[in-house]
Amino acid sequence: MAPSRLDTVSFTSFTNIVNGESRSSKTKYHGIDPTSKQPNWDVPVATAEDVEDAVAAANKAFAEWKTTTWEYRTERIARFKEALEAYQEEMTDLLLKETGKPRNFGATEVQSCSKFMEWHMGLKEPKGESYDLDDRTIVNKFVPLGVAAAICPWNFPLLLSLGKVLPAVQMGNAIIVKPSPFTPYTALKMVEIANQVFPPGLVQALGGDDKLGPALVDHPDIHKISFTGSIATGKKVMAAAAKTVKRVTLEMGGNDPAIVLPDADIAKVAPMVAMGAFFNTSQVCIASKRIYVHSSMYDEFLAALVNVAKSLKVGASNEEGVMLGPIQNSMQYEKVKTFFKDTKDHGYKFALGSGDVPETKGFFIEPTIIDNPPEDSMIVQEEPFGPIVPVQKYDDIEDVIKRANNSKAGLGATVFGKDAQKLQEVADKLEAGSVWINSFPAAGPQAQFGGVKESGIGTEFGTLGILAYANVKAITTFKNNS
Ligand code: NAD
Repeated sequence: MAPSRLDTVSFTSFTNIVNGESRSSKTKYHGIDPTSKQPNWDVPVATAEDVEDAVAAANKAFAEWKTTTWEYRTERIARFKEALEAYQEEMTDLLLKETGKPRNFGATEVQSCSKFMEWHMGLKEPKGESYDLDDRTIVNKFVPLGVAAAICPWNFPLLLSLGKVLPAVQMGNAIIVKPSPFTPYTALKMVEIANQVFPPGLVQALGGDDKLGPALVDHPDIHKISFTGSIATGKKVMAAAAKTVKRVTLEMGGNDPAIVLPDADIAKVAPMVAMGAFFNTSQVCIASKRIYVHSSMYDEFLAALVNVAKSLKVGASNEEGVMLGPIQNSMQYEKVKTFFKDTKDHGYKFALGSGDVPETKGFFIEPTIIDNPPEDSMIVQEEPFGPIVPVQKYDDIEDVIKRANNSKAGLGATVFGKDAQKLQEVADKLEAGSVWINSFPAAGPQAQFGGVKESGIGTEFGTLGILAYANVKAITTFKNNS
């Protein structure tokens, strides 16, 4: 059946969604278009009353929804896919306006939503194991856990919000989406559209100010927080969640290494490493943030990488051939500049770029590469989340693995080379939730996604992502005691 167009959805007015209804608020805020620094549309700031109403509606919806079958819920996801796909063009335009992404990458984020929904449509209901013993039977069951809150970041505002809604509702839960205040627009619209197919209160959205996230984490009638964001905020979420023993999934920051082994084909690998470092203007949790190259090929590789990075066009979403949009917001723009300043102040060498960030009409920064800074430099130790990346030399593979692992973060890693066994060995030794061999980081619905160490707790996507929204219940029945 062709997707039906529901003309009631406006892409120029935005509200919170509470109990199946649009809800405005006296106080408003707005995002900034990072390409022009001009304000985007007004969005309501959710009040304490909105939070109470949403939590009550979510618990009411959950009581019904948990009694539905997996098949019914999956069929609803299929309907949601049709509904969302009817707005692909509008969603892409909106995403470009709120993030400044190049058009083709924005379109890819929107299309990835369909891939994730397809994945859920094919997912089997998770079943625990059962045992028939002499005196008893044991059935281990996965049961929904109640109301989840999705606390979302601004770098992939649509996909990462949807990636929490789908497993939550498929497993039988209700969910309240809290977008980043920097990028509320696509997430609010996605939830509005979800309300065409899900019952009132099941999928809601609340946007707002700095008080909203903590209010959701503290709320005793919310049972789960699925958080994606920085390590610093994730720690606060985890500490606050302890008060009510909420379940948490934490998808946090990274400082991912890319290791180029001595047998790597430079011409092939340099473009992939550049993509890994600079895709989405480096505003990617799994971007390569430390590049390690064997000393035997260092100069040649660095020259190749610089050549590729130089060719990446920085500009506005609709410009022909643009590869890098602006930094999404002024807070992050200022933060990225501190890495330029620190590099300059310490006299580290720029292989590409100068360390100056000229003012432009948007938050644009050209890709920048630092030539072999020391291991303890800020650019190696911290996550810039912007287009400045260090390349460092190594001589010994065991030593580079140690250096790669010498981080409190452990989100992703990439490794490049020809020797399949060596590549596997290195991948096995890297302390990371995801390792990509001979590719830039490429997440997708089939691969489990999560961090080790301070990069997070739990996993999203794959077949296990659904279990982040389940409790386990063991029912043991004694045979001869009735
Ligand atoms: P952030 O931590 O500043 O904000 C994330 C979300 O948390 C926002 O919605 C924010 O409003 C909310 N928040 C802020 N303080 C809160 C509090 N005290 N309690 C509850 N919620 C609160 O992160 P960001 O700047 O939006 O995103 C960038 C960071 O996210 C980077 O570090 C990046 O690596 C990380 N990230 C991780 C993943 C992953 O899957 N591991 C994916 C994308 C981004």
